[in-house]
Amino acid sequence: MRVLVTGGAGFIGSVVTEELIKDGHTAVVYDSLYKGHREAVVPGADFVHGDLMDAELLRHTLKEHQIEAVIHMAADSLVGESVQQPAKYYRNNVVAGLALLDAMRDRGAGRIVFSSSAATYGEPEKQPIEETDPTRPTNPYGETKLAFEHALRWYDEAYKLRYASLRYFNAAGATENCGEQHNPETHLIPIVLQAAIGNRPHVEIYGDDYPTRDGTCVRDYIHVTDLARAHIQALGILDERSGIYNLGCGGDGYTVREVIDAAREVTRRDIPVRTSARRPGDPAVLVASSERIKRELGWNPQMQDLREIIRSAWNWMERHPDGYGEAHDGEA
Ligand code: UDP
Repeated sequence: MRVLVTGGAGFIGSVVTEELIKDGHTAVVYDSLYKGHREAVVPGADFVHGDLMDAELLRHTLKEHQIEAVIHMAADSLVGESVQQPAKYYRNNVVAGLALLDAMRDRGAGRIVFSSSAATYGEPEKQPIEETDPTRPTNPYGETKLAFEHALRWYDEAYKLRYASLRYFNAAGATENCGEQHNPETHLIPIVLQAAIGNRPHVEIYGDDYPTRDGTCVRDYIHVTDLARAHIQALGILDERSGIYNLGCGGDGYTVREVIDAAREVTRRDIPVRTSARRPGDPAVLVASSERIKRELGWNPQMQDLREIIRSAWNWMERHPDGYGEAHDGEA
């Protein structure tokens, strides 16, 4: 299949592109590089340097490469920033996303896999979270992901634009060549590893007064390759139907302190911590039920052990101590 990957120069996008190529698909990465890295564009993929709001370039790209499906990952994805700057999130995650859908409609390219988020659920009533649970986002990031999901539903109904919306929990880890590098970094695992390698003095724990087993937030960490495989499997159903799927490993999840302890074990380094105030918009616990995607798509995560996930990220960081080199504003 000929697949356009928006945001394919970012962390998850690069691994999705790797998996597409591994499976014999043609991948065209469409990325503005405002957060992504040119070096993260996987060899073997075509690259178009462009913005989703550039309707002409987008239409031209869909046509020239005879795109049959789109994996749409280009987005802003920081909970804290979204609370401070909702306008940026509505513009980049909703308005730009709709521009993409309109270009797809014009071309008759009717299949899309969308990077959605656990943030669509807000503060959940129960754990693990199922797709049928209420969606009440507690921050603009989750709100914009949900708004786009709603648009997909109605575009499907009216225009037969088939979609799979994948609600990511916490993507982590690395492959041999693709790893996580944001500037500035805000995600827990890379921050913890930066402290281990000596690139930052300590890890700040955002709140230890949550109603959880050790007072810190619980999250469901999923290896980026397992996450990427789900996109490829989702492409396979879109001839027939659309769907919304959670993507996490489930179980009890891990607290922030458990992640730090696991990283100490993996790296055998000292990781100093400090506790500070809660980060606005953070729910206490986010753990997925991924039963639906297992049942309907036959997806099965291969790397469920947190230590293994952290080890893959650590290996990448040791091989790429300066990341992808060039510094960028924002995050990938
Ligand atoms: N977190 C933290 N210190 C940090 C970064 C993150 O305590 O320096 C916490 C954050 O509050 C959340 C969890 O780690 O509870 C995971 O945060 P991350 O930003 O990695 O992912 P998110 O859950 O926001 O998508």
